[in-house]
Amino acid sequence: MHRLLNAAELIELAQDAQRKSQNVACDCTKTPLDGWQSQPLSLDESTLVQVGTLISPDDPEPTYAEYPPGSSPYWSPDAPIAPRYFPYNRCDVWACSTCSRLYLRYTEGGGYFVDRRIRAVKASLIEDAAL
Ligand SMILES: [Zn+2]
Repeated sequence: MHRLLNAAELIELAQDAQRKSQNVACDCTKTPLDGWQSQPLSLDESTLVQVGTLISPDDPEPTYAEYPPGSSPYWSPDAPIAPRYFPYNRCDVWACSTCSRLYLRYTEGGGYFVDRRIRAVKASLIEDAAL
């Protein structure tokens, strides 16, 4: 079981990761991951280590509502990261063991359509939005 992170804890982790990875060149940044992407083949996922999760063990059916309600900034590199909203409520939190950069990952779809997606965490985009 990985530790469930709330928004404040995620911000803290992200700020710490940004400090450590500042000006550190790393292969994990080959493909820009500022917005959601299908996990690029160039990414060596063996360097990623899970450091927490945003998946609440008390909520087996997390909402598909996106934040902010009414618009769908899903793919935008500036889309807010609101841990209680889709898709963040289905994400685990990973860190690159080489450079400390923080990433969110989840699996989109089901059945024959499965897409593993990844997005870099930027502390300034994290919003503690209530459902
Ligand atoms: Zn890295």
